[in-house]
Amino acid sequence: MPKKNIAVYPGSYDPLTNGHIDIIERGLKIFDKIIVAVLKNPDKTYLFSLEERQQILRSVFKDPQRIEIDHFEGLLVDYVNRKGINTVVRGLRAISDFEIEFQMAMMNRKIEPRIETIFFVPSDAYSFLSSKLVKEIYQLGGEVSSLVPQIVDLKLKEKFRPQK
Ligand code: ADP
Repeated sequence: MPKKNIAVYPGSYDPLTNGHIDIIERGLKIFDKIIVAVLKNPDKTYLFSLEERQQILRSVFKDPQRIEIDHFEGLLVDYVNRKGINTVVRGLRAISDFEIEFQMAMMNRKIEPRIETIFFVPSDAYSFLSSKLVKEIYQLGGEVSSLVPQIVDLKLKEKFRPQK
């Protein structure tokens, strides 16, 4: 059987947005399987715990043959090496993403030249969308239902407006 073409898509996913989903769907046109790797960075404060972020992903993506949900701590290249994978997927929004993504891809290449980073560009409907913006809008009483899957809308409600 030919070897499967697998990529890792790392991120915070705090929380998952339609922008992430758009990138995963584009990735699946090229790769047999995408491993969505949720980052646990002890120096970062998240709205959703690692378990919640993974649970949201698992409830949205129900085909583990093609979309596996996993997590990692520490260096991405170490995780990718442990998995024996060669490709990292990232999303590129407006110009603002370019510098940091470029820096990260170059640094990862320096540490592990074997690993390639591939960028996907989302639909223009999501090119302004970020998890941070979703949280801010929701916290200020705005609507995010067209920007996130239904489960995320519900989870945001539980966090920010529990009594309503
Ligand atoms: P990180 O903390 O690693 O940036 P995120 O969950 O914010 O984690 O993002 C993970 C990846 O998904 C990054 O490459 C980011 O650029 C990309 N991404 C996030 N939101 C979008 C979006 N709306 N459209 C395209 N790519 C996105």
